[in-house]
Order: sequence, then C-alpha cells, then structure tokens
Amino acid sequence: MLIIGLTGGIGSGKTTVCNCFSSLNAPVIDADVAAREIVQPGKPALTQITTLFGQEILATDGTLDRGKLRDQIFSDKSSRKKLEAILHPLIRQQMDKKLSTLNAPYAILAIPLLLEGKRRENLDRILVIDAAESQQIMRAAQRDHKNKSQIRAIIAAQCSRKDRLAAADDVIYNTGGLEQLSHQVAELHNFYLKLAAKNS
Ligand code: ADP
Repeated sequence: MLIIGLTGGIGSGKTTVCNCFSSLNAPVIDADVAAREIVQPGKPALTQITTLFGQEILATDGTLDRGKLRDQIFSDKSSRKKLEAILHPLIRQQMDKKLSTLNAPYAILAIPLLLEGKRRENLDRILVIDAAESQQIMRAAQRDHKNKSQIRAIIAAQCSRKDRLAAADDVIYNTGGLEQLSHQVAELHNFYLKLAAKNS
C-alpha cells in the first residue's frame, strides 16, 4: 500500500483536504484522532501522564483536561519533552495499528507536525497543504475564535512555508476557493491510484 504523509501549517486546510480524500473513499488516519484515543480513561498513557503531572490534570469525569495539560507544559520545556516522550511513540503505534487493518491502494496519514518532529520512515510521499500566511491566519482565527497574534505565534513556532514546500513530493495549493481545492484533491487521488497500481 502506498502511504502518503499529509501535513501543513495551522489553518492551511489539512482537515478540509482530508475530508475531500475521505469522500473519495481514500482511507485517512489522523494523528490528532490517534492522540485523543490513546489518552482515554483506562489507557496506559493516561496513567503515565497523571503520574507525571498529578491528578489535577483530570476533569471531574476522569478524562484528560487538555486545557490544563496545555497550561502545565506551556512555559515548561522539560515537561513538554517528557510528555512528548510518552505520547509520540504511542500515537505512532496507534496509527500503525490502524494502517495494518486497511486494504486499500493507498492511505493518507495526516500528521500536522510531520516536518517538525522525528522523520517517519514508512512514508512513500509527503503531501503538503499550502496557503498564504495571511489566509492561514484569517481561517484559523475565525475557526478557533482566537486573535490573529495568537495564530501568528503558532505559525512562528511551526516549520516555515519554504522548508515545508522544499520537503514536499506533492503540494495542494489551498489559496483559492473550496471547489478549486476539491478539484486538486480529485486529481491527486487519481495520481495516487495510478502510482499504487504501478507499484503493486
Ligand atoms: P487545518 O486543519 O490545516 O488547521 P482546516 O481544514 O480546519 O485547516 O481549515 C481552516 C478553516 O478554513 C476551516 O474553518 C475551513 O473550513 C476553512 N477553509 C479551508 N480551506 C478553505 C478555502 N479554500 N476557502 C475557504 N475556507 C476554507
């Protein structure tokens, strides 16, 4: 199976593009979904996180309070590193487990911080969703009800647009309307199907 790593900055349109691939019946495995699944109550990751940060990062129903966790690691780099050391291998395992159940010509692995983290070895291609920074700011600020400077700070902490494009095998330019976007996804879908058929 051909494995495509999909990435892009905040507000670039990753989720929207993943929805387009899903509507074409291409399987999408999302790192953010996997990250939520592995910290469900009863899962070992949650026990490890509470050992590290204390019971106070749990909500009253026993689930992880992600806001409190974010606050704890915000200004503490060593805590963030420890948290990542717990979560990253488990997220990867969870995604690989899902991948192993698939029977499809190709699959999309949506990994927002693909180029910021340690490089995965099992990707055949990297697909970057690109948009102008002004568009990222406008779209993400509107979606997340955040102010523009908050989004700018997130963008500044992420891989640069130039470096992301340099790492890409394929690029979707989400600089126009939604129709143009779904057209590009449909074209790439056909390309991936052809590539998968050639490789099989
Ligand atoms: P990401 O997952 O990369 O953060 P999203 O796919 O959630 O980005 O897109 C951010 C916001 O912008 C969403 O509200 C989405 O509906 C909107 N959006 C995405 N692409 C377009 C587009 N081409 N035109 C208008 N709005 C868009």
